[in-house]
Amino acid sequence: MNGLMMDFQLTLPTLVRRAEAYYGEKEIVTRLPDKSFHRYTHGEACRRARALAVALQGLGLERGDRVATLCWNHHQHHEAYLGIPCGGFVLHTLNIRLHPSDLAYIATHAGDRAVIVDRSLKPLLDQFVAKTKIEHVIVVEDDYEELLAGADPDAWREPDLDEDEAAAMCYTSGTTGMPKGVLYSHRSTMLHTLGVAAGNPMGLGISESDSILPVVPMFHANAWGYPYLATMLGAKLVYPGQHLDPESLLEDFVQEQVTWTAGVPTIWLGILAMLDAEPARWDLSHMKGMLVGGSAAPRAMIAGFKQRHGLDVVHGWGMTETSPVASTAQLVGDLKDADEETQFDFVAMQGLPLPLVELRNRDADGNLLPWDGESMGELEVRGPWVAAGYYDTPEQADRWTEDGWFKTGDVVSIHPKGFVQIKDRSKDVIKSGGEWISSVELENALMAHPAVAEAAVIAVADAKWDERPLAAVVLREGQTATADELRAFLAPSFAKWWLPDRFEFVTEIPKTSVGKFKKTELRELFSGVPA
Ligand code: ADP
Repeated sequence: MNGLMMDFQLTLPTLVRRAEAYYGEKEIVTRLPDKSFHRYTHGEACRRARALAVALQGLGLERGDRVATLCWNHHQHHEAYLGIPCGGFVLHTLNIRLHPSDLAYIATHAGDRAVIVDRSLKPLLDQFVAKTKIEHVIVVEDDYEELLAGADPDAWREPDLDEDEAAAMCYTSGTTGMPKGVLYSHRSTMLHTLGVAAGNPMGLGISESDSILPVVPMFHANAWGYPYLATMLGAKLVYPGQHLDPESLLEDFVQEQVTWTAGVPTIWLGILAMLDAEPARWDLSHMKGMLVGGSAAPRAMIAGFKQRHGLDVVHGWGMTETSPVASTAQLVGDLKDADEETQFDFVAMQGLPLPLVELRNRDADGNLLPWDGESMGELEVRGPWVAAGYYDTPEQADRWTEDGWFKTGDVVSIHPKGFVQIKDRSKDVIKSGGEWISSVELENALMAHPAVAEAAVIAVADAKWDERPLAAVVLREGQTATADELRAFLAPSFAKWWLPDRFEFVTEIPKTSVGKFKKTELRELFSGVPA
């Protein structure tokens, strides 16, 4: 017997209608290139998004055509997040930090027909646009306004969208081989937005009264859902533009009374250092905390924000393939009453799945592993906002199991409380004498040393053990530490054979286009270099 409920399609125009009807006056603020602030409302953003949809139709684009963006985080990009899918097109966010040859590959593979580009990024576009099928180049600071001025937002007729139609696409940043396209549907986007609202953060709650600043770039996996979340809830949005240095971000937090923010750990390490240096300079009393994810949030950083500045970190795990938010680590149940050290241990894990997401841990033979906090296997995930395949890349079909789970490539254990702990990416785990060493755990521990600003641990080839750990360490300004001191610092927490044989002191850890440690480059740098 079927239920008797409406077949109501989960599509993005629902969000636009809702924001215009109920939260039209709520603010969206952008830090402009000259550092001044642009202010307008969700109502105006939605109206301009409708105009954009009409204008793109006027250009002759057809249903399902890909419209790329090559932009920083700002209000016009927000309009594109809404207007492109509401016009029946597919928003394709291009990563502004990629090499032009990668961008040429990605834009061609995606079949982009138009691109909205910041004037400051036009020189980057010029280096690859001729190699693509892009016909329309719309520069934010000029053509874009003309385009919108010539389009009547009231002429927008909602296309009769099916919830399974594509709304957006994003390519994985290619840390593991060629970039692969993930194609989000309207349905997956709507459910992800609801999932993030329900599960992130469970304890702290995001609502209409929040002021949200996504530091995570809008080209990195849907800005983790924040543009849509804020539109759905009617929360104030603050976009930092291109000013992502700690000082500018802290200025934004103070001036715009930001209550919630999100980004990768490298950003927060910089902010924490600046807060520690001049705690009295920044009044963050209105801030609840931040979602930190994309790579492991160091435990010492989580503790530093809480103990020295009263700020809560919610630690999130996800992938481009999971829209991206799939799990969060935060204090739930009896953990709320646990002692502080235990609390930090749990928040430093990757946590519990969001509602509707399922996780499992299997060994190489496909056996389910117990929740014992020790057994290491590969994390598999399924749910309504998890990719079922890559766009036009059939050779990658083996990333999905026969029973329909996505193989993440992350090596994990699961704590008896259900908290997932990422030990490594399978390609980064160090295989020493047939046993696995977690580079993430070593890094985390090293970053708790007072003299260490950043640390990345990689495997280097070893004749006897196959691989051995090498730690690349950036020291804090004015601080010193020797390899022996760092090894002694780690010794109480790890088995002896886990301790890195080599420490290399570097001025900087190379980062990927989305701010993660670029271990491939470190491996190139140090493999074959004698100790
Ligand atoms: P890329 O694969 O190009 O790095 P993604 O952003 O999709 O781009 O990366 C997803 C991967 O990032 C995950 O598979 C995992 O290895 C890592 N990751 C994401 N969040 C966390 C986290 N909180 N802790 C540890 N690793 C994380």
